[in-house]
Amino acid sequence: MHHIAIIGSGPAGYYTAEAAQKHWGDDVRIDIFDTLPVPYGLIRTGVAPDHQSIKGVSRRYEATALNENVRFVGNVTVGSDVSMDELRELYDAVVLATGAPNDRPLGIEGEDLGNIFGSAAFVGWYNGHPQFAGLDPDLSGKNAVVIGMGNVALDVARILAKTEAEFAGADIVTHALDALRVSSLQTITIVGRRGPHQIMMTPKELGELMHLDRATPRVDPADLPEEAEDAILEPGLRKSVAHLRSFAAIPESERADKAIEIDFDMFASPLRFLGEGKVTGLEVERTKVETGRAVGTGETYVIPADLVVSCIGYRSSPIPGVPFDERAGRFANDEGRILPGIYCVGWARRGPTGTIGTNRPDGFGVVEKIAEDLTSGALGAGGKEGRTGFNALAEQRGLDIVTFRDWKKIEEAEAKAAREGAPREKFVDIEAMIRARG
Ligand code: NAP
Repeated sequence: MHHIAIIGSGPAGYYTAEAAQKHWGDDVRIDIFDTLPVPYGLIRTGVAPDHQSIKGVSRRYEATALNENVRFVGNVTVGSDVSMDELRELYDAVVLATGAPNDRPLGIEGEDLGNIFGSAAFVGWYNGHPQFAGLDPDLSGKNAVVIGMGNVALDVARILAKTEAEFAGADIVTHALDALRVSSLQTITIVGRRGPHQIMMTPKELGELMHLDRATPRVDPADLPEEAEDAILEPGLRKSVAHLRSFAAIPESERADKAIEIDFDMFASPLRFLGEGKVTGLEVERTKVETGRAVGTGETYVIPADLVVSCIGYRSSPIPGVPFDERAGRFANDEGRILPGIYCVGWARRGPTGTIGTNRPDGFGVVEKIAEDLTSGALGAGGKEGRTGFNALAEQRGLDIVTFRDWKKIEEAEAKAAREGAPREKFVDIEAMIRARG
């Protein structure tokens, strides 16, 4: 019997469990640990609340979770409730599927001013992550600045721009919907340090900006290269750039009846935040792109900002004793192998890139490495205690484990509490989640 511990119950964790289940069948026991009492990680707290079809993938994870050999061990934090060393003693392999939950800082002056947030915090706020539910951003100003030209920046801009009616069917938490309902925002500026050919935004997501009830996108035609130059782009990026071109072509007459403008400010590198106590502006330096890199031109200007959300990427959380690549912000690994018996997968392995589906081959890849190492004897002689040993430890420590069955009760309670038309109203604090299991 092989015993595998997976730390983190997001997409990378569940795809790894699915792969291990397929590989070893009845010869494996898989425990999936999570700090939260609820599973699915980024599907629950990262994917935008108005993108319910993407969240549907959790049904696939549920099919894995309901397998006899797989169990969810919620409300347990590796590092405080149980150590990595203890897990290594108990399981043949420990797989870190912990994602990249921390905001990468910009590292510029004024970053600690009020009403400036990283996207992990801001997205966590509107998605009801217990750590960020109390963020309380002030949306009473006119100008929001969203830094970064990736899909997270697009998510944040779109959520800030939508009307209450456009959240029908979304699982945005009520505290965020209440705040957005009374928001006074008129301009949402998306700031990118490079140009149209370097955006990381994907076409489907970019196209959504054309269909917002009260907001319209704006691109300065002068920022666009000659159309013929788009020919060298790979097809996805070419489609995204085509969207930017159509934003630039929107006639002023069509903008008049829209209350909010989503303004793309490209070739603008953040220099410093202005304000006293609270942010009032972002000073940027005009750039030009040379061999793919943003190079400052010396020209600076200030973008008014009452709210800032920085969407420039994420970092994983290091674990004492586990080699970490500080520069890349993820675990130091060789194709998922970190140390004998310790592996990583998903964003914890490769950094915060790719779609949810990218994690599936990652999960199958790491299981292949574990299988090779089990066969070669690199993981020792076996005979580990696995979950029996963990259960004894948990009992001794009085850990209050939340099981998958408990989660189903929490899920039911969230569905019951939903606004009309919404799939769920999430509990946003851990105590409430635990109480809901009955
Ligand atoms: P991302 O795609 O890597 O975009 C990060 C953006 O931040 C880039 O435009 C980058 O510009 C910019 N940036 C980085 N450092 C900067 C700095 N110091 N100053 C100014 N700008 C800076 O990351 P993401 O948006 O966080 O998304 C993470 C992953 O999740 C991506 O793979 C994304 O596609 C995925 N995702 C997908 C969806 C979806 O499919 N609906 C939704 C959300 C997220 P440079 O390119 O110049 O470095």
